[in-house]
Amino acid sequence: RKGSVFITGASSGLGLATAKALAETGKWHIIMACRDFLKAERAAKSAGMSKQNYTILHLDLASLDSVRQFVDGYKRSGRPLDVLVCNAAVYQPTAKEPSFTAEGFELSVGTNHLGHFLLSRLLLDDLKQSDYPSKRLIIVGSITGNTNTLAGNVPPKANLGDLRGLAGGLNGLNSSTMIDGGEFDGAKAYKDSKVCNMLTMQEFHRRFHEESGITFASLYPGCIATTDLFREHIPLFRLLFPPFQKYITKGFVSEHEAGKRLAQVVSDPSLTKSGVYWSWNQNSASFENQLSPEASDEEKARKIWELSEKLVGLA
Ligand code: NDP
Repeated sequence: RKGSVFITGASSGLGLATAKALAETGKWHIIMACRDFLKAERAAKSAGMSKQNYTILHLDLASLDSVRQFVDGYKRSGRPLDVLVCNAAVYQPTAKEPSFTAEGFELSVGTNHLGHFLLSRLLLDDLKQSDYPSKRLIIVGSITGNTNTLAGNVPPKANLGDLRGLAGGLNGLNSSTMIDGGEFDGAKAYKDSKVCNMLTMQEFHRRFHEESGITFASLYPGCIATTDLFREHIPLFRLLFPPFQKYITKGFVSEHEAGKRLAQVVSDPSLTKSGVYWSWNQNSASFENQLSPEASDEEKARKIWELSEKLVGLA
């Protein structure tokens, strides 16, 4: 049978390019888990995906009710789940004030981390039950959360501190909206959320890899400077960022190339090692990359796991 892969945020950018790359192999059925059904349908059509290769299901990661409804709907459908890709994200680098999810969590960490945390926890048993030869749970990371890199040292840097804001619920009422308890900063909130993504992948690996055989992985696909991730950035930035990445840092990758990279992490028989953060060199060859000290801190990973369980109602 075809493999069954769920991709969140497949209506745009990396998620769409990955869905397209997998659809073209003819070996995958793609569940595009998207908040905007019509946009996803148009995106799949304009990418030339054939109808028999995908299904669109509604999922709004900024609402835990929506996550639960998505999971219930999927369970009733009787479909297998072989690979789950947590890809969707929001980035609000120019926001002066925080926005919030339905449950009142700061939007970037609430969507990118907490929404995906609940989704992947609720789908873990279904992944375990899959009889597919290589089942995988992939959480997209980023270089920007890794302070051991040049890009990760552009201020504001990721820093989760002692997690006091997360412990307080990131709601701006009786706690800060930032994980470390600081003042709201949209760019930093995004980077912090990516550190949570990479720590969550490793915690999944430690808790469940041996017993389940599931491959847990994260990746940095390269700087895909043309995606809608930068939609809220100022126009001048959006104009200059792609050529800057292409000609100065040389970190630029096209959506097509980045989609091929994530599709490899989904399906390549040689990328089955669990607990790995994949990156690609200038020749587009994959390698196991090093994470920053904070993005590989086991104690922090465990605390984030436990605090997140409370916030999403699992504990
Ligand atoms: P895009 O903005 O193009 O795609 C983000 C996707 O997430 C869209 O499909 C968007 O839906 C979806 N999304 C946002 N909020 C929600 C929500 N509440 N519920 C469901 N879906 C939601 O950005 P990219 O493709 O660049 O980003 C994809 C991933 O790649 C992210 O995890 C990002 O951190 C990562 N990444 C990107 C890099 C880059 O240079 N672009 C570099 C490193 C990592 P909609 O279409 O409806 O807006």
